Amino acid sequence: MTTIEEQRAATGHDFLQRTLGDVDPQIAAAIALETARQNDTLELIASENHVSRAVLTAMGSVFTNKYAEGYPGKRYYGGCGPTDIVETIAIERAKQLFGAEHANVQPHSGSQANMAVYFTVLKPGDTIMGMDLAHGGHLTHGHPLSYSGRDFNVVAYHVRREDELIDYDEMERLALEHKPRLVICGASAYSRIIDFKRIREICDRSGSLMMTDIAHIAGLIAAGLHPSPVPYADFVTTTTHKTLRGPRAGLVLCKAAFAKDLDRSVFPGIQGGPLVHIIAAKAVAFEEALQPEFKEYQAQIIRNARALAQAVASTGFRIVSGGTDNHLFMADVFSKGITGKDGQNFLEAANITVNKNTIPFDTQKPMVASGIRIGTPAVTTRGLREPEMKRIAELIARVLDSKGDAAVIVEVKKGVKELCDRFPIY
Ligand SMILES: *Cc1c(COP(=O)(O)O)cnc(C)c1O
Repeated sequence: MTTIEEQRAATGHDFLQRTLGDVDPQIAAAIALETARQNDTLELIASENHVSRAVLTAMGSVFTNKYAEGYPGKRYYGGCGPTDIVETIAIERAKQLFGAEHANVQPHSGSQANMAVYFTVLKPGDTIMGMDLAHGGHLTHGHPLSYSGRDFNVVAYHVRREDELIDYDEMERLALEHKPRLVICGASAYSRIIDFKRIREICDRSGSLMMTDIAHIAGLIAAGLHPSPVPYADFVTTTTHKTLRGPRAGLVLCKAAFAKDLDRSVFPGIQGGPLVHIIAAKAVAFEEALQPEFKEYQAQIIRNARALAQAVASTGFRIVSGGTDNHLFMADVFSKGITGKDGQNFLEAANITVNKNTIPFDTQKPMVASGIRIGTPAVTTRGLREPEMKRIAELIARVLDSKGDAAVIVEVKKGVKELCDRFPIY
């Protein structure tokens, strides 16, 4: 007679009980390294954040085991009772948070949220209009290297040379000339308020549908600190992992008239089974975002971005468009003879992470770039405020002005460590 334990051992049950360190020391060590890196780094990448323990717990839950193709109450698999609870709550919270008529919480990422909208309203060869990537737009808004630039006829709008603000007049002229089926607004590297009402008026005149991609500013919008596109846009897409501070994933909101078609284009159109563990984590993040503290958090992100932009400007770097209304800004480091690429590398050596970024009308190639993009969502999550922003600007300027001098980097690293130790993440 074999015992239950022996039988389970023979079928591999033991594996279920073993710790990550036992099963896979290499990956366990890499996770430990990444935890230490995040703790000891000033994270200024504008699209990154540090999620709560509650979000991490939901992401690491047994819902990863579940297949749930379909939607709550209409699944292709059995056993979806608890899954339906999770997805229904996530949908209701997303609608409440943004005041939307319909929400689809299944997109695996921001790119797939956008693809779902394109599949809902476009045919190959249709004309779309989006903001030029080099002027702050996103790859999925019609760049030739993305699906969005391959299957559609793309017209790009820009910012104005003189003030680096979106050229709504050009947008209107191009829209009336090309009559795009879909106008896409929203950006990855634009530090000013976007006038969604104006864009709706343009779409109405050109007979275009309007999609707003709020991947970066979703948290600010949820907190009422940036005007919402939801009343104006036919579709609103977002990621949930940037200012919204949830799991790495996407979300689509739309008018009720498009609800059925949108749902069909997410599944079965472009995705298979939803990531139920990630949907659970989105629900948790939305609950956090509905709390009054979240509004305070978002307000501090903006105050920090303004303070940091001012302080960086006072060290002699030109700030694109002269400042910021949101969570990020671009510093033109080439204004002091440093490429974005070098700037990023010098700062990384000192445990300050940013990304190189083209600036409007850049003279450098995208992989070199004249700017760095700096954002405050992650450092604000750790509790840093305006006095620390001044300190960070000093540290950044010392590294850049020294052009990555090794002795300076050693000194700055100490300053970074001191700040990070005072503000631990978890
Ligand atoms: C980050 C971003 C996305 C893409 O999100 P992924 O989850 O990385 O696919 C889409 N649109 C905009 C404007 C973004 O900034």
